[in-house]
Amino acid sequence: MSDTRDRAEIEREVFLAGTAAGLAVPVSLPLDAHLHTVRSPDANAMLEAYCVLAVDRGLAELAITDHVDFDPAMPAYGFASFADRERDVREAAKRWAPQGLAIRFGVEITYERAYEDDIRGWLKRHPHDYVIGSVHISAESPYKASNVASFVAGKRLADVVAPYFDEVIGAAHSGLFDTIGHMDFVKRYLVPHVLPADLAKAPELYEPVLAAMIDTGTALEVNASGLRQLPRETYPAANIVARYRELGGRHVAVGSDAHRTEWFGYGLAEAYRLASAAGFAALAFRRGAGRVDVPISGLKR
Ligand SMILES: [Zn+2]
Ligand SMILES: [Zn+2]
Repeated sequence: MSDTRDRAEIEREVFLAGTAAGLAVPVSLPLDAHLHTVRSPDANAMLEAYCVLAVDRGLAELAITDHVDFDPAMPAYGFASFADRERDVREAAKRWAPQGLAIRFGVEITYERAYEDDIRGWLKRHPHDYVIGSVHISAESPYKASNVASFVAGKRLADVVAPYFDEVIGAAHSGLFDTIGHMDFVKRYLVPHVLPADLAKAPELYEPVLAAMIDTGTALEVNASGLRQLPRETYPAANIVARYRELGGRHVAVGSDAHRTEWFGYGLAEAYRLASAAGFAALAFRRGAGRVDVPISGLKR
């Protein structure tokens, strides 16, 4: 318990330091494609509050991507109905369209190989504008705070990250998702046993995951939430986004992954800059039909 509290306290300090350094300043950007509301069990933000902030800060388009889990042991399992989530988002979209704000009905699905068939069937029956597939940390995960130290001890880095990356590869190969969310989220749980700098020195460990995304046309997300969490960098970091591009990756997405109103837009401009620096001129997104490009030219430096 104390470990959990300490980590939360440290992340609060990281958030405040980043705020002081300007990570949360108002920005004019075309899209935040990863946002959670009270329809996610770990979020307390009202959709309406995001909309007010988006108009105020000049963000043109939002994808609401509340959690849906298929493992009964995971927190979003059965948490919010499809009908409730869709109604919230579609009604907000109608209310806010006259003010120039576009709101899309997305979802963030926790991918586990064991539930792939269930996810496939469910997505066919429940269409969304945009679908993120992410690997999260389950109740039995070796990366849980109570397990991680003993799991990491004596292992090579490749073996430490393998259980996480194997699932991400499965998510990409499933072909179910527009985008893989926070593809190295595991680094949040590995601190302080493995540091982000250790992973930065081992881009070869990422390459099979990047190759799976490239082969299947699944977009890579630059997820800004790591900037307010223990890694203090995006998921994944700049060198991995650049490596994805070098290997032939052409589809990059960007999201703040906010769960609270105060996190809205946090780090988003930094994530855009990083994608742009890696050579991307547009974001990969979907608005219900096929993939669309959202140009990211004209970034304020
Ligand atoms: Zn996630
Ligand atoms: Zn998320």
